[in-house]
Amino acid sequence: MSASLSLSSGQSEQGAALCGAISGEERETVEDCAVVVSRENILFPRDRPLKRRTISMQVRRLFCLCCLFMLGVCLTSLYMRKETHFFNAKTKPKSVPVTVVTMNDLDNMLNYKARSAVQTQTDWKAPIMWEGIWEPLDYDRIHTDNKTSVALTVFAVGRYLEAYLETFLVSAEKHFMIGLPVMYYVFTERPDDVPQIDLAPHRYLRVIRVERHSRWQDISMMRMKTISELIDSEMKYLFSHVFCFDVDQRFMGRFGSEALGESVALLHAHYYKLPKNRFTYDRNPKSKAYMEIGDYYYHAAIFGGSWESVKAIADACLASIIEDKQNDVEALWHDESHLNKYFWIHKPSKLLSPEYCWDMSLNRKDIFVTRLIWAPKDYNRLRVPKEETAANKSTAHL
Ligand code: UDP
Ligand code: MN
Repeated sequence: MSASLSLSSGQSEQGAALCGAISGEERETVEDCAVVVSRENILFPRDRPLKRRTISMQVRRLFCLCCLFMLGVCLTSLYMRKETHFFNAKTKPKSVPVTVVTMNDLDNMLNYKARSAVQTQTDWKAPIMWEGIWEPLDYDRIHTDNKTSVALTVFAVGRYLEAYLETFLVSAEKHFMIGLPVMYYVFTERPDDVPQIDLAPHRYLRVIRVERHSRWQDISMMRMKTISELIDSEMKYLFSHVFCFDVDQRFMGRFGSEALGESVALLHAHYYKLPKNRFTYDRNPKSKAYMEIGDYYYHAAIFGGSWESVKAIADACLASIIEDKQNDVEALWHDESHLNKYFWIHKPSKLLSPEYCWDMSLNRKDIFVTRLIWAPKDYNRLRVPKEETAANKSTAHL
């Protein structure tokens, strides 16, 4: 361009030649310059159209650059959005770990080593529930999700009704399976005398009249018959689990969903530390409860499980009890002897430590929590007196 500006009017041909020697964009500019020269407008003509052309090209370039830039911005933002979504989708499980725990997993999550001084697992890998090895919230969440519901059976016949029932029920409302639907099935020969208890939502009480057996041993043993019949006629339609309790006890601490299992037995507070040869199994070979050796000594004050398991337990024990009666024998500890035999043959899937039924007169070194305690025994006053059994049985209460 500076060459063009130096041309004079007599130098138009030279200018054209010069233009021809220049190539590309500059050539175009110089050709313009030749046109201007031919119109003899050489003093100041060339720089104006050249300048305009140059500016318009610069504007075009700038426009193209802007378009390219905008396109780049759009593509980058689209890419980033896609990547961000992908990134989030990929990393979400890492940042918020979701552990899917099922009912079957619950007992596998126990911390068996948390209690070194006591046995926390049986030979057949059933857990023994001691304070410290389980996490209450895991059990509660899974059982709530699975809509677990529990039937509790308790017998209060004769003087046991006034002596124990109210304390048992009131304390159960504070500690037994809190958060789950519960029905208390109270069996008595005097339904009208069952105390009124305040019940939390989703907790119910049903009183069922039963015959009063003349012997306390039969009151205790024939519970198996009543439990089996009621599971069949009602409980199995309403409840996933059944727990059977003696009435002469008081809840003191959490007795929750961790205690539920397929079939649940309780370690007897007086025997869990003793060597096996001191277990008081029935040693009479004539009884169906007879056994020489066993795993543990279980306490019949509490047993439970799925309704199917509890029905099987009750049916088997009842059949043995009836067979013994036919053979005119009675097992040493009545239903408890038959229960021990049953659990020797059919291993329970879960054992409750004696925390779940503790005798406060014992040394409590291993017992960090007392969940349920024995009420004071007063057999002489409370059990059916001998002379009463001979009298009119149907009116023989209190
Ligand atoms: N039972 C009852 N009335 C009686 C005897 C027994 O209601 O006259 C019931 C009651 O639920 C009691 C259970 O049967 O808890 C077992 O009897 P007990 O508690 O006397 O036996 P132990 O625990 O002393 O072996
Ligand atoms: Mn008892």
